[in-house]
Amino acid sequence: MERMELDAVVVGAGFSGLYMLHKLRSQGLRVKAFESEPGVGGTWYKNRYPGARCDSESEFYCYSFSDEILEEWEWSEKFPAWDEILRYLNYVTDKLNLREDIILSTRIDTARYDETTERWTLATSDGQTVTTQHIVMAVGPLSAAPIMPNIKGTDKFGGESYHTGAWPHDPVSYKGKRIGLIGTGSSGSQVLPVVAKEAKEVYVFQRTPPYVTPARNRPLDPEYIRDVKANYRDLWDRARNSSRGIPYNADPRSAVKTSKEDREELFESLWQAGGNQFIRKSFHDIFTNQDSNDILVDFVHRKIDELVDDPKVAEKLKGHDYPIGTKRPVTTDGYYEAFNRDNVTLVDVRADPISEITEKGVKTGTAEYELDMLVYASGFDSSTGPFTRMDIQSKDGTPLKEVWKDGVRTYLGLTVPGFPNMYMICGPQSPAILSNAPPCLEQGVEWISDCIEYMKKNDIAALEADSQKAVEWGELCNELVEHTLIPKAKTSWFMGHNVPGKPKEILGYIGGLNKFGDLIDDVASSGYEDFDLRRKSGS
Ligand code: NAP
Repeated sequence: MERMELDAVVVGAGFSGLYMLHKLRSQGLRVKAFESEPGVGGTWYKNRYPGARCDSESEFYCYSFSDEILEEWEWSEKFPAWDEILRYLNYVTDKLNLREDIILSTRIDTARYDETTERWTLATSDGQTVTTQHIVMAVGPLSAAPIMPNIKGTDKFGGESYHTGAWPHDPVSYKGKRIGLIGTGSSGSQVLPVVAKEAKEVYVFQRTPPYVTPARNRPLDPEYIRDVKANYRDLWDRARNSSRGIPYNADPRSAVKTSKEDREELFESLWQAGGNQFIRKSFHDIFTNQDSNDILVDFVHRKIDELVDDPKVAEKLKGHDYPIGTKRPVTTDGYYEAFNRDNVTLVDVRADPISEITEKGVKTGTAEYELDMLVYASGFDSSTGPFTRMDIQSKDGTPLKEVWKDGVRTYLGLTVPGFPNMYMICGPQSPAILSNAPPCLEQGVEWISDCIEYMKKNDIAALEADSQKAVEWGELCNELVEHTLIPKAKTSWFMGHNVPGKPKEILGYIGGLNKFGDLIDDVASSGYEDFDLRRKSGS
């Protein structure tokens, strides 16, 4: 059996893992990244379903740490598709010469900590043993933990079936097929318009109607690209200093105190501009005031009436039982319009619940839909799932899954008490759930690399989060969300509602990326005084 001695291990070679590997290697550490898939890219390696694309504008969906990369890379569309993002991440991997330190097709199966040596011992899926001082979890908040819907018989279906989060690499044909789509979140709503163009029939099994805003994706013209490149430092300063990692500022007026004409003007201009700014640049109180939120919902409902020909279908497509923006916003092109096609049928499974999946298709209380293909766009065991699926034990041998069984506990979403020298990028209770990912992960990577550098310079063998500080961090995260309408959404992954038995709590810090940056900088400037720092023996 091979044995590898390292200073640091990075788990995952997606957006976070690649940058982490680059940083730690530049600091002179012996470091390797382990990636379970045969290629780099993380989320974008796996989420290659039809229509998959990002909903952050491309100029903000990239790394900002390298001027050279910002100069060299050119995005082709306003919202980049999965394959373009994957090309970008491969380009960065080659540009930074990262491949030689990435071990592909190899999972970290177990992680055990030895307090006498203050080192982790890891076992990999191909039988290697790795010892390391630091372990950085760059597993992402979603893609490592796709979930199937909680429906009887998913293993019985005789046709093709695919989960959007684990889409096959070989081409999938929809032509002439009868397709069932389960799930209408960000993934399902992107799948529908693409698949509907080729399929014989598409049955959309909708439980909770999403509020879908048009993305208005378009090719980027050379002038726009030139302008972005000429101003990227300013753009990135604004993105990093914004609350959501993208410089959209909410309108400072209150929706309820603004005249109807002025409200309509703002909503219409944001609807026409497209993308998530429809919600993010709207009135600041739509997240905190139900009446303000209702006004925005009414606008979306009127848009659905305009876009959908059949008034009965339009009615079913309207979300009523949760405020807009309290589930992850959905933005894509052609979603509502797809329901005007003769080959698309909306099945309201709230009114007529799915009873089981059979060999032939989907059975509801009143009908059976015969299908050739089932697409599960049923989401992920978010934030905690990618961690609890691994066999990681604390220094006293308690599995992380057990530690978090009644609720997640972290300090700053970056560390966990009892798990020294283990760090998380975009982990639970970090700002990841509401942020544009790249600035959020860059912030995490940079804090972790500074922390590891500090430990090296000061002969510190172990850094461990304080339990009381972690309790206070969790309280702060939960308190922040109580001032918003987010808890009113009862089927959201933001609060663990989508996984049966998962504790219902906010899975992120929603106080803003900018505020979070200040908080973690203060912790670093204090010499990490909130942590238990253990020196190397003899120093
Ligand atoms: P999701 O938002 O969690 O949506 C899952 C869907 O499956 C929901 O519509 C859910 O209905 C439905 N569902 C689950 N179990 C069901 C059941 N038993 N019967 C019927 N319906 C069921 O998952 P997602 O769409 O994959 O998106 C997850 C996250 O990934 C997003 O929120 C976003 O953060 C990210 N993402 C981003 C993009 C982008 O940038 N454009 C694209 C895709 C994904 P209920 O709502 O009733 O539970």
